[in-house]
Amino acid sequence: ESVVNRIAAGEIIHRPANALKELIENSLDAGATLIRITLKEGGIKMLQIQDNGSGIQPSDLPLLCERFATSKLRDFGDLENMSTFGFRGEALASISYVTASMNVVSKTKHQDCAFRAYYANGSLTPSKPGQSADPKQCAGTDGTLITAEDLFYNVPQRRRALRSAADEYNRALDVVSKYAVHYGGKGVGFVCRKASSNATDLNTPSSPTNSTLDTIRTLHGNAVARELVQLKGVADGNLGFQCHGWVSGANWSSKRTTMLCFINNRLVDCPLLKRSIEALYATLLPKGGHPWVYLSITVNPANVDVNVHPTKKEVHFLHEEEIVEHICQDVQKLLAGANS
Ligand code: ADP
Ligand code: MG
Repeated sequence: ESVVNRIAAGEIIHRPANALKELIENSLDAGATLIRITLKEGGIKMLQIQDNGSGIQPSDLPLLCERFATSKLRDFGDLENMSTFGFRGEALASISYVTASMNVVSKTKHQDCAFRAYYANGSLTPSKPGQSADPKQCAGTDGTLITAEDLFYNVPQRRRALRSAADEYNRALDVVSKYAVHYGGKGVGFVCRKASSNATDLNTPSSPTNSTLDTIRTLHGNAVARELVQLKGVADGNLGFQCHGWVSGANWSSKRTTMLCFINNRLVDCPLLKRSIEALYATLLPKGGHPWVYLSITVNPANVDVNVHPTKKEVHFLHEEEIVEHICQDVQKLLAGANS
């Protein structure tokens, strides 16, 4: 059974960056406004995330890493949200199956102290042989601290497929950076650093007055930020979507496309949208080159299908072709207007 679970876990967790994405989403779901990430060897040796969100009730700790144990049906109340966000209660379970050590320290605002629990293979485990596996009281601030060590120590083929620590770190940093842009205008700050250094590689404020463009400027520089045009409230009631974002103009281009695509506040790959946007810019940028595009799309949760792939990275949704075409036309109009 444990082998089957480990294989299933390896389908969900591929590399540090996607484990981190799951953990970030959990922190955001818990209402965190500050999320601090520390990685050792690109997250392979250690991946740590601290948030100031709601915390986990001590009584929920024993089943936290059980497969399909999710509090989010209870909290959000409907199955449609579940499918949109991919709430399936598999992320923590999967991480506990493919790491040598995983522990959680968490405190809700209703408790006087935090509790620490260790997990392996979906269950509570003693921190040292011979001790009890029960969660233990410890010092801690409101929120949750999760530390996972030695990713894929027991899945050699996954471990071999990883790139260098530097490469894995950059992939993880890229995920953090994209979430930082999307949530920068919503008052959520992110910090990311290597365990080997006190200097941060990414640091965005958790401030209600910070805007999306401020965050883009912080992370991508003013040379990019000043060339961006705001796409405001594109919507179509019949197709059931809304979209806004920031896109580069016809006077700016780069060697490769930067695409930040959020659907219902989740970072996703939308291959059709990416291809269509690239095709549009190919006609707009006379000397070639590629755009910088951030799009936040909201669709009816009931219309999203995230189950095409267990990592939930790629999504499809109802009226996808029409919606993509609609968005591309609006970007085209926007840039035509911005140029004249
Ligand atoms: P899911 O997010 O699909 O519910 P996960 O395995 O990602 O499943 O998380 C399991 C459960 O653990 C969540 O439903 C939530 O109740 C709890 N949880 C995980 N991370 C956090 C966190 N950072 N803060 C508060 N609760 C959390
Ligand atoms: Mg989750």
